[in-house]
Amino acid sequence: MRVVRVLAILAIALHAGPAQATDRSQLRDRCWSPALLSGTLEEKKITKGVRTFDAPLPAMTLTPFAPVPKEWRGAIRRVKLPPGKKLVALTFDMCETPGQVTGYDAALVDYLRANGIKATFFSGGKWMRSHAERTQQLMADPLFEMANHAEAHRNLRLLSGNALSEEIEGPQRSYEVQRAALGARACVKDDPAFLSIPPRMGLFRFPFGACNQASLDAVNDAGLLAIQWDLSTGDPVPAQSAQAIADAMLRAKPGAIIIGHSNGRGFNTAEGLAIAIPQMKAKGYEFVTVSELLAQGTPEISATCYDTRPGDTDKYDTFFKPRPAQVEHKPAEKTDESIAPAR
Ligand SMILES: [Zn+2]
Repeated sequence: MRVVRVLAILAIALHAGPAQATDRSQLRDRCWSPALLSGTLEEKKITKGVRTFDAPLPAMTLTPFAPVPKEWRGAIRRVKLPPGKKLVALTFDMCETPGQVTGYDAALVDYLRANGIKATFFSGGKWMRSHAERTQQLMADPLFEMANHAEAHRNLRLLSGNALSEEIEGPQRSYEVQRAALGARACVKDDPAFLSIPPRMGLFRFPFGACNQASLDAVNDAGLLAIQWDLSTGDPVPAQSAQAIADAMLRAKPGAIIIGHSNGRGFNTAEGLAIAIPQMKAKGYEFVTVSELLAQGTPEISATCYDTRPGDTDKYDTFFKPRPAQVEHKPAEKTDESIAPAR
């Protein structure tokens, strides 16, 4: 009985289907030349005043799922690994709120690809619609895992009912629509490696790193593991240098879940990775996706979500309510999670 349960949990973590080839690099390379996969600095820019992608996709039939079982419910911050295993998971958020289109950090993704570094991208449902081609490229890449970062980056602590479920389900729709579009492309058709792209996302990250019991329950009931982090690069702060990002990363312990941004909200992230990753590799660290990390150990689960200490993301509850004479002075970068420079 216990074995069955463990297998069921692993299936959630790995979105496992029948055994199949997992190397889809040939599929990726058939669909996109190296020039099309790589990007420009221009793509990192954030464009304000664009409402083209604001409307979420209408309800649709989604891939069936089971609610997350009791022992995996809550906010997963890191993974306890057997002694000697030096694995860490790099994660990057791609947040996007209504009325703007955020960027795509090509330097970061290109660096990961060039060096064969695995990563997990927590993507907004809206971001996947405004970056459909990039979404399909990330999905097709055997190095990368796609995960849910809410529909339009709302604070889920402040939502209930339909508004809450839309924020959780919207990205699942965007993902499944993009996966189907990828599967229909002539370059993919009949390649069994396509089946290694999970039919649904199984991981979720709360915007602003903020949750409460109701939203945590809603995410877990939707068959999504809540993946927060135990180590922040601090990259949403413009003053955060590449060296400071690298210094933060170099403090990672085995089993760490590291957060950065790959949507133009991160400053110096790619440069920081380029300093830290070779040093971490030299120390014996290996980079895996969050699902692979979970499959290797036991998640360390908190009853609530936070950045560095419980309660520190509750401040976002009042953040967007305008307060005269204060609102003008709030720096824009503080609208993102994990703002505290790592010390
Ligand atoms: Zn975010």
